[in-house]
Amino acid sequence: MATSMAEHHAVRLAHAEAHAALHGLSLTPLRRQVYEAIVASERPIGAYEVLDALQPQRGRVPPTTVYRALDFLLAHGFVHRIESKNAYVACCEVGVPHCSQFLMCDGCGATVEIPGDAFAGQLSHSAPAHGFEVHRQIVELSGLCALCARASRASCASA
Ligand SMILES: [Zn+2]
Ligand SMILES: [Zn+2]
Repeated sequence: MATSMAEHHAVRLAHAEAHAALHGLSLTPLRRQVYEAIVASERPIGAYEVLDALQPQRGRVPPTTVYRALDFLLAHGFVHRIESKNAYVACCEVGVPHCSQFLMCDGCGATVEIPGDAFAGQLSHSAPAHGFEVHRQIVELSGLCALCARASRASCASA
């Protein structure tokens, strides 16, 4: 299990590096380490948790430096920002421009990215009919993942 997760992370890192090389994006050691910390996290990770994750490798890094690295990763589609949690998740399709929706578990924090331009387009195109001009579009759904839903059903049944 641990090995397959590590392999999964390695595949993501290799893919991100290939994407950076292809587009002349400079994935500096710090940006790479910030990205690695986000990939390694099972749930959305905030800037200060990224700082903690970097500490063993780099010591104390100024928060502004981490914020700049996060801005870079965000601008080039390596990560997405989960607005409601002020945290970041690794994108599941680096290099393919897309809109995404997110399913977020209230129990364990697990977050699933659902890429899909069709739904996002439908939503944003319906706005002008209401005389509304969209500046930012974020769709985040909260609930329970399969594991947490099963656990909560089990505890209800035993209570
Ligand atoms: Zn994505
Ligand atoms: Zn869960």
